[in-house]
Amino acid sequence: MSDTLDNSPLADTKKMLRTIDKRPSRKEAEEAVRTLLRWAGEDPEREGLLDTPARVAKAYGELFSGYWDDESAILGRTFEEVAGYNDMVVVRDIAFHSHCEHHMVPIIGKAHVGYLPDGRVLGLSKIARVVEMFARRLQTQESITAQVAHTIQDQLQPRGVAVLIEAEHMCMAMRGIRKQGSTTLTSTYTGEFKDDPEQQAQFQTYIRNQNS
Ligand SMILES: [Zn+2]
Repeated sequence: MSDTLDNSPLADTKKMLRTIDKRPSRKEAEEAVRTLLRWAGEDPEREGLLDTPARVAKAYGELFSGYWDDESAILGRTFEEVAGYNDMVVVRDIAFHSHCEHHMVPIIGKAHVGYLPDGRVLGLSKIARVVEMFARRLQTQESITAQVAHTIQDQLQPRGVAVLIEAEHMCMAMRGIRKQGSTTLTSTYTGEFKDDPEQQAQFQTYIRNQNS
């Protein structure tokens, strides 16, 4: 379990977005894929690979589209006001695919997100979109967990946010130590979730009920 308490993951996000000004051209990206193919031992000129650089560049555009999204655009400035509902809202089992920043190999997981409303709530699909935005970047599991929690905390300003992510790292499953099927858990709690172990326990109960 890890618990990042400050806002540094979001500061990193802003720093990263500035580097996008120097984005290489599509042609340069395709040339880089040809270089990697040669490095792996392939002949990029053989027939089956002729279109591969273009396909890989296009796939990267989708897999890493999260660099071009913006949390305030996704969450918007308009939240639903709810009179009298102050209990926990939990969205469980948000499936996501990401890529580890160390090897650029897939991370496959599920996110569980809860918050304690302070008079207003988010559209439920928006929570999944926040997870997807951060998943479609190069990540560590610790960072994505903290980024989702702090983004919802900053934008919605609820009484607290809880994020628990369980994921399998293909870089562990496919190479090196080859630990297949092992799952890593990370969590971040803000506000009342951080201060009140009973709220954390309640959140974990909701998740367990789903998985049993
Ligand atoms: Zn890795």
